[in-house]
Amino acid sequence: MSAQVIDGEAIAAEIKEQIKSDIAALGKELHLHAVLAGDDFGAKFYAGGQQKGCEEVGIHYSLDQLPDDASQDDLAAHIRKLNDDPDCTGIICLMPVPKGVDGRALQQMIDPSKDVEGMHPSNMGKLFYNDTTFAPCTPKGCVELIKRVGCEVEGANVTVIGHSEIVGKPIAMLMLGLNATTTIVHVFTDDIVPHCKNADILISAAGAAGAKWNGYKRKAKKDPSTPLPDISPLVKADMIKPGAVVIDVAINRVPKGFDEDGKPIKSKKSGKDLMVTRGDVEYDKAIEVASHITPVPGGVGPMTVAMLLQNTVNAAKAAQ
Ligand code: NAD
Repeated sequence: MSAQVIDGEAIAAEIKEQIKSDIAALGKELHLHAVLAGDDFGAKFYAGGQQKGCEEVGIHYSLDQLPDDASQDDLAAHIRKLNDDPDCTGIICLMPVPKGVDGRALQQMIDPSKDVEGMHPSNMGKLFYNDTTFAPCTPKGCVELIKRVGCEVEGANVTVIGHSEIVGKPIAMLMLGLNATTTIVHVFTDDIVPHCKNADILISAAGAAGAKWNGYKRKAKKDPSTPLPDISPLVKADMIKPGAVVIDVAINRVPKGFDEDGKPIKSKKSGKDLMVTRGDVEYDKAIEVASHITPVPGGVGPMTVAMLLQNTVNAAKAAQ
């Protein structure tokens, strides 16, 4: 058996078409503001994806760039201004924030009806009541993918790997809301294997290999004798129940391979370590076991932006 590959790009494109019609029906301008202090590459990269998505569907996007040394008060004042601005539909507080600034406190200041990333405790709490108007984008995207492949969630055994606030916990809550029998495993779970093998739907959001590689690099800088970590996929094919739906949320940036000395293979062009992006799942073998599987990249990733756009439309509807 070879699994059906879930094409996140294609599904996200369909959703964006629907969003365009929703915006036309609303008959008003939508404006998303992303607040950033500093020059973090990852945050700017993420903002670039948001901007592109907004342009595709006709939402105005502003990257509100504050200085590197912006204080808690500076950022709070800016968020307050956006909360009060009737022309601002949605607000994103990009992470990381500068040292000494409490990013979570800033997210909690965003007006919940403009909290398009679904990070405000009020919106997180609403997940308990199955109100997903402002559910966090990546978890919401996972649910959308599962629904679109026609998989029956009610009564299914779902295992979620990872219990972070932004991904694992909200995914589990959304799955409970759909009446799945839901198990969360994490780094303190004694043995994740039986829980994975029992899953009709397996959702992995650990990012284990990437975290290990980054940890290794930090340690090896101080101590070059640090042993190489095991960055093989966390979810091996034999941990997957035959016919399961597998959703791989993780984004691991890891070396493509190692030379005889155990050093990452270098790119001939740039001379830098040759890196690849992969998920948690042993994709090449898992594809022979699962019924449906998301690739990395091209699975969950495009859905995150699509759900951000959908939440922005929800914010505009709520403001009417
Ligand atoms: P996190 O580091 O906050 O949480 C990781 C979770 O995985 C923790 O609950 C931890 O206990 C668990 N975990 C780690 N190693 C494990 C192991 N060996 N066994 C079992 N559990 C383990 O990360 P996060 O923010 O939740 O993100 C998780 C992954 O998803 C990352 O790779 C991240 O890049 C990716 N991500 C992707 C998208 C997307 O749009 N596709 C969005 C957000 C996050």
